Amino acid sequence: MAYVIAAPCIDHQDQACIDSCPVDCITFEPGLDRKAYIDPDGCIECGACVNECPQGAIYHETELPGPWAVFARIDRAWYRDSDMARDAVDAAAAAAA
Ligand code: SF4
Repeated sequence: MAYVIAAPCIDHQDQACIDSCPVDCITFEPGLDRKAYIDPDGCIECGACVNECPQGAIYHETELPGPWAVFARIDRAWYRDSDMARDAVDAAAAAAA
């Protein structure tokens, strides 16, 4: 189990969450990614990042609002195949537009 960064992060990437994480498991590549991602294998579920996000984008994966459930898979996917995750973010953003 882990925390997940959902749709409100897309095209914001405030980065306060990155500074708040005690285990440095929040990442994105500037210029390539439209959101940040939490490494589910590194997250210790401390919750420190949740209130740091001005977009309210971070949820425990068991508490993701239904339309954003896909972001648990997207965050996990980024650490295996970042291009696949980026395509999924584009698709999620387009679906929400
Ligand atoms: Fe990092 Fe804690 Fe947020 Fe997990 S819940 S991403 S460990 S700050």
